[in-house]
Amino acid sequence: MTKSNSSHISDIAHHLHPYTNAIRHESVGPIVMERGEGIYVYDDQGNRYIEGLAGLWSVGVGFGEKRLVEAARKQLDALPFYHTFAHKSNGPAIELAAKLAEITPEGLNHVFFTNSGSEGNDTVIKIVWYYNNALGRPKKKKFLARTGAYHGVTIASASLTGLPNNHRDFDLPAIPVHHLTCPHFYRYGQPGETEAQFCDRLIAELEEVIAREGADTIAAFIGEPIMSAGGVLPPPEGYWARVQEICRKNDILVVADEVITGFGRLGTAFGSDFYGIKPDLMTLSKQITSSYQPLAAVMISDEVYRVIAENSGKIGTFGHGYTASGHPVATAVGLENVKIIEERGLVANAAAMGKILHQRLAKFRDHPLVGEVRGAGLLAAVELVADKDSRAKFPEPGKVGGWFFNRAHSHGLIVRNIGDALAFCPPLIITEAQIDEMVKAFEITLDETA
Ligand code: PLP
Repeated sequence: MTKSNSSHISDIAHHLHPYTNAIRHESVGPIVMERGEGIYVYDDQGNRYIEGLAGLWSVGVGFGEKRLVEAARKQLDALPFYHTFAHKSNGPAIELAAKLAEITPEGLNHVFFTNSGSEGNDTVIKIVWYYNNALGRPKKKKFLARTGAYHGVTIASASLTGLPNNHRDFDLPAIPVHHLTCPHFYRYGQPGETEAQFCDRLIAELEEVIAREGADTIAAFIGEPIMSAGGVLPPPEGYWARVQEICRKNDILVVADEVITGFGRLGTAFGSDFYGIKPDLMTLSKQITSSYQPLAAVMISDEVYRVIAENSGKIGTFGHGYTASGHPVATAVGLENVKIIEERGLVANAAAMGKILHQRLAKFRDHPLVGEVRGAGLLAAVELVADKDSRAKFPEPGKVGGWFFNRAHSHGLIVRNIGDALAFCPPLIITEAQIDEMVKAFEITLDETA
């Protein structure tokens, strides 16, 4: 636990933290981070931590990257703000939009900028509804998402999210979302079922829901290529190809939420490249600027864009946008960040280091507390269980994981506990020696876990 000082006391007195038990915060207080360098961050007590989660799955190029500081400074100097409403534009927004069109999967040639991933997914919902209204299909509005998915916390994006904490006590209004079974074989596979049979069952469920609800009522399927915040849950082999085929057959748009998997995380440029997804819409954020600035982008296919453009021509305006959509400082930082990822070969580094990370983590499969080791590229999780054979969870889910999370801090490691699964998502710049350092700190903590 950190020592209290006046800033800690002030934090407790005035700051309601996201994703925090506020009562517990009043007794334990904050860990106040002061600076970062590469894969490391330092708190105000002088402690150094390996940021095994790259902040919030996001600081791809690492901390302390001076090129991003300089890109922000130059843009702040020249033009700190200008909006992009009503035909106005700015250089960095134009350049970043073109760059994103170039590097994202084929056909995604149009960009709508927002400030956060949640707003990005709200924008996706509105675009999809607008699109179907423009096509004269007012009934085609429902979204298919998955239990365990994370798509954000605004009222609409939280409705897509399939996690209980984001729904409980928030009275979300009825956005038409149907949550399909979470595609995680380890947890949702039935006794005696093979992974291939599990995949068949997921696909049969999808077909059954479409048949029952009617394809004329279902607008889009949204999914993270690998569910991340829900526990790092790769789907069974062949899942995405089959989902995509069924969606195409039923004229259902495919939305890839790549807020975490975008920009190299899985060792390919995008998670869609990893799984062969050809999305109609794609949400990007986090590693778009390595989170040095808040920014998100919705990539839109030529076909969807054309329908939107024609409709706004008819009705007068596309009535959606944020004051900071295409913010020049955020987009300048984004552009420089994408250049750094390209120039330093960070996608290839993620592929190479991802292999090493998974090799190193594989040894924990034999540990009595470890149920599953999973992931792809520089995204991984080690799930702790009460009983390895039956896969039984601990009696109080999240308690052991929470203990591990805190304990790892004292060994200079930040990993995220998602219930009792411990997630890794280090900066894309990580080296082999640093992976060894990170895994060692993990091992020490695991050995201390009763
Ligand atoms: N979508 C995914 C896949 C995410 O992981 C997140 C955040 O972790 C979001 C959307 C929401 O992004 P934000 O927190 O920027 O609103």
